[in-house]
Amino acid sequence: MELKNKRVLVVGLGKSGLSSALFLRAQGAQVTVSDTRSAEALAKEIPALLDAGIMVESGGHGLLTFRRQDLIVVSPGVPMDTPEVKQVKAFGLPVIGELELASRFLQGKVVAITGSNGKTTTTTLLGKIFEDGGMSTLVGGNIGLPVIDLVAKSTADTVSVLEVSSFQLETIEEFHPWISVVLNITPDHLDRHGSFENYAAAKARITERQEASDFLVLNGEDKPTQMVAAKTRAQIYWFSPRRPVKQGAFVHGESIFFVAKEGDKPEPVMPVAEIRLKGAHNVENVLAAVCAARLAGISAEKIRASVAEFKGVEHRLEFVRLLRGVEFYNDSKATNVDAAMKAVASFAGGIHLILGGKDKNSDYGAMADLLKERVKIVYTIGSAAEKIERQLQGVVKIVSAETMQAAVAEASKGAVAGDVVLLAPACSSFDQFENYEHRGQVFRQLVNELS
Ligand code: ADP
Repeated sequence: MELKNKRVLVVGLGKSGLSSALFLRAQGAQVTVSDTRSAEALAKEIPALLDAGIMVESGGHGLLTFRRQDLIVVSPGVPMDTPEVKQVKAFGLPVIGELELASRFLQGKVVAITGSNGKTTTTTLLGKIFEDGGMSTLVGGNIGLPVIDLVAKSTADTVSVLEVSSFQLETIEEFHPWISVVLNITPDHLDRHGSFENYAAAKARITERQEASDFLVLNGEDKPTQMVAAKTRAQIYWFSPRRPVKQGAFVHGESIFFVAKEGDKPEPVMPVAEIRLKGAHNVENVLAAVCAARLAGISAEKIRASVAEFKGVEHRLEFVRLLRGVEFYNDSKATNVDAAMKAVASFAGGIHLILGGKDKNSDYGAMADLLKERVKIVYTIGSAAEKIERQLQGVVKIVSAETMQAAVAEASKGAVAGDVVLLAPACSSFDQFENYEHRGQVFRQLVNELS
């Protein structure tokens, strides 16, 4: 891809937009950045951009700015149905995302992980397994470091483990992983994708350009994920915590096994008991990582050692404190109903559950049976509280706490030895917090201040 003297517009000045703009400029492109936020809101970013010779349009998008380009690079935070983006697409201008841009320059092999839940956990674990296994490894994508920032560090020997979101997959063209992993597809982000079908179709694009020499790792127990199998030319591997699979990783009895090729004898990898992460959903994440790591040539023995060392990622079922026999867990990253249900299902009962935040058009009623079985009291917070209370009315005892502070105080008062206080809000955080990390930090701090 030749960028020298090309006119390129970067839409959206988030982390990946900023990195893309600087990369494009370094490649000799004439770069403009356009963002709907005001110049004041972008005051931190603008000086570095101007210094690099990049033009900045703030406070909205001008159609003329869009029309004048050779290429448009859209940030994952910008919806594809933004009117200016739609219009230039209709005019036939090439529109790609940061992932696509980066993948055209990234050297070495790519392992890409998508799914509604578990991406960060699985990406982090797989990165660790590769690194422990002696591979030259880079980890990035949705997980923090934009893929474009990996480009300069990559060589022909590098394996890049990338966490990719449905938004990033909406704007790919030639992106072509060596190994793709789809963990699960459950309703999330329906506010932006419009329908479950659109969302599932975006996830399935991960394998669109894969070839017969590539691998696709799929969840054998998740129906929407199984459908991705029909869309690939790659070799399909399955993972299942419940039953043996023809090719892939599975749990049988107390152990994890891997089958390299249909008909082969299953190879024992490790006892399930050596996994340090809580919850059945984390066994799925481990199975996906085991499968991808074996396909990449890491030995079962090395995988076992790395998995047994892995303690998980913060804000994901993170143990915070034991106080008077009550355990406190921070799962602030449970930003949708399915993730929150997985968190609840990780404990046998006695749960005091903090739910709420910003609603994502979710159906909290789907949690009813599970809550009835395991949760003593729900404490609601944030702008979704009223909807949650309406949908769970009569299912479980509910305390309207409104704020995190009140929720933690009430829950710790209500809990007795043997109980669990769990923050697994099933909502995004933006009504009361900067992001889920901030929400998790506030929860942790409040819990640590309890006496
Ligand atoms: P993502 O990057 O996809 O958001 P994370 O690893 O950050 O995934 O986990 C997000 C949340 O989803 C966690 O808080 C956890 O409760 C839940 N979770 C993790 N793995 C899974 C899984 N395989 N299936 C369902 N829920 C999961």
